[in-house]
Amino acid sequence: MNFAATVLTLYPEAFPGALGVSLLGKALSEKRWSLDTVQIRDFGDGPHHKVDDAPAGGGAGLVMRPDVAAAAIDSVALNNRPLLFPSPRGKPFTQAMAREWAAGPGLVIFCGRFEGLDERVIEARGMTEVCVGDAVLMGGEVAAQLILEATVRLLPGVLGNEQSALEESFEDGLLEHPQYTKPRIWEGRDTPEVLLSGDHAKVAAWRKAERVRLTQARRPDLLKD
Ligand code: SAH
Repeated sequence: MNFAATVLTLYPEAFPGALGVSLLGKALSEKRWSLDTVQIRDFGDGPHHKVDDAPAGGGAGLVMRPDVAAAAIDSVALNNRPLLFPSPRGKPFTQAMAREWAAGPGLVIFCGRFEGLDERVIEARGMTEVCVGDAVLMGGEVAAQLILEATVRLLPGVLGNEQSALEESFEDGLLEHPQYTKPRIWEGRDTPEVLLSGDHAKVAAWRKAERVRLTQARRPDLLKD
């Protein structure tokens, strides 16, 4: 079975969005992966299909109701797929998670809106909270696309050149080395001589040293342990 993504959202029109272009869009039309959306409002309460209510304890904003969220979630056959809730309080999303999920049957992603989702449904349905960056979005839709984009590009046959995926930032705990292309001199800036030398061992050593240097300078947290 191919990788199956199901996204629960109040804005299904936001999909496939960025997932519908380029190689992921091609892979989608070739059925290497599938994408379904579920409109959460279809499970809303009363004639107005209410999905949210005032926060218990008071305060600003609205909270998504657990009964509505659970009804939407329970309408989906999980088929052993992880159930994710993009959330600023979640574990930071990593390449390792993308690798793990790309090796599995797919993902079910519930997109929050407003102030978020009632805590009880997160617990009761065993939702995994995932954060896509230390900044607050309007809703989970862009986060869901980010998670799916990083995951689906790792599926076999989606990227033309599988090797390039393995040499990228994060794959071995280091950031990528700087890249250069033509022209050789641009605005007086030269391409590093070693890259023009044709000596593959030297090029590899230079790239490795640059990766370590950049990671130390910009993301020392990646070098810990
Ligand atoms: N009041 C919440 C933010 C709500 S933003 C808080 O302070 O934590 C509305 C929804 O957008 C969230 O429920 C979540 O689904 C999504 N979202 C916002 N920022 C996100 C982030 N950095 N990572 C993942 N999802 C995010």
